[in-house]
Amino acid sequence: MKELLLAYQGEMALKGLNRVTFENAVMKTIKYRTGAYGDFKVYKAQSTLYVEPKNDDCDLEGAFGALCQVFGLAAVSRAAVCEKNFEEIAARAVEYLKKPLGKAKTFKVEAKRSDKAFPMNSMELARELGGRLLAAYPHLKVDVHHPDCTVMVEVRDYAAYVHADKVKGAGGMPVGTSGKASVMLSGGIDSPVAAFMMAKRGLTLAGIHFASPPYTSERARQKVLDLAEQLTGWCGRMEIYVVPFTEAQVYIRDHGVEDLFTVLMRRSMMRVANQISRRIGAQALITGESLAQVASQTLPALVCTDAAQDLPVLRPLIGMDKVEITELARKIGTFETSILPYEDCCTIFTPPHPKTRPQLEEILQAEAACPDLPRLEQEAAQAAEKVLAGRALGKKQKRRED
Ligand code: ATP
Ligand code: MG
Repeated sequence: MKELLLAYQGEMALKGLNRVTFENAVMKTIKYRTGAYGDFKVYKAQSTLYVEPKNDDCDLEGAFGALCQVFGLAAVSRAAVCEKNFEEIAARAVEYLKKPLGKAKTFKVEAKRSDKAFPMNSMELARELGGRLLAAYPHLKVDVHHPDCTVMVEVRDYAAYVHADKVKGAGGMPVGTSGKASVMLSGGIDSPVAAFMMAKRGLTLAGIHFASPPYTSERARQKVLDLAEQLTGWCGRMEIYVVPFTEAQVYIRDHGVEDLFTVLMRRSMMRVANQISRRIGAQALITGESLAQVASQTLPALVCTDAAQDLPVLRPLIGMDKVEITELARKIGTFETSILPYEDCCTIFTPPHPKTRPQLEEILQAEAACPDLPRLEQEAAQAAEKVLAGRALGKKQKRRED
């Protein structure tokens, strides 16, 4: 074996007694996600996680990409494996680090040694290796404070590893360690970002999407499933519940109060989402709402929405502006799909002048004029269609014949 992947755990290293639980969760995720790229052995030594290819068939580049999307990891790197003698380490470092050292103007070497039988201590190893690299790359200068490139050498029990700068990992907590919540997924820019942010805090996600055919199209539904598929690279497999919402929505339009329509509809969605969540054991609802972004996201409107049901509503985007949300959407890979111009059920039947300061009393009065709504909501919740996103995740990819 010539190369492997190293992963460094993030804040969960702080979790005291629970640490083993977090470690096991992140290792399980690593094993599962890298599984698509070959057979890897995943193990831990001194809080570093090792992802070791079992044979030459492994796609290390692909596995590295998958690892960068695993929550709970502070950093990842790709490392050369060498025998534990200095000559071998130096020769391998010179050859393996050609690219990063070729580009850098300054560098430093950091050495770690858990095998105390190794004849050099960490300081000596760093100094000697630095000397060899300077000789091989005479354009380089040493800068211990702000180097362009940090070379790491680690002497462990069975081998030594050499690598250059670590790449920042996805951070956060391993998915599944914080419980389960439902994310209300529209096809917009915001809700996929909200899903990403809460998965990053360790939640297992289920998606809930409201569709109102024929007012919303098959393409709009497919767009949401595509977004969910993209999210699974971060959050793992996810069940999506597609709720047939047409009847309830038409009923609200016909029996509700026009300028309160949006808030009435959002309350109705929250109640349906509550029923589905209780059924599937999700303990909170996640939305992509951001304070004051639109009429239904003013504080009075959110107060009315929150009063509709009794599960906590998590709104990770509440204090972010559209530019920040958009940046994140691009980073996580959902933006391009989100801007496809298909209608959402939230954009049909919208009144020309929605009330931006609805009062709960008037909302309750308006709902009193909708006696059939609870039944329609219950039917919608029961009729939700379950779709599994992320089927291909962790499954071995067919290697392309070149
Ligand atoms: P997004 O960009 O996520 O669509 P938005 O700014 O367009 O959000 P709204 O359309 O008011 O805002 O929706 C607010 C939130 O309500 C969304 O972020 C999402 O969580 C939820 N939501 C909206 N439409 C739907 C839908 N059709 N199905 C499920 N949830 C929805
Ligand atoms: Mg929307």
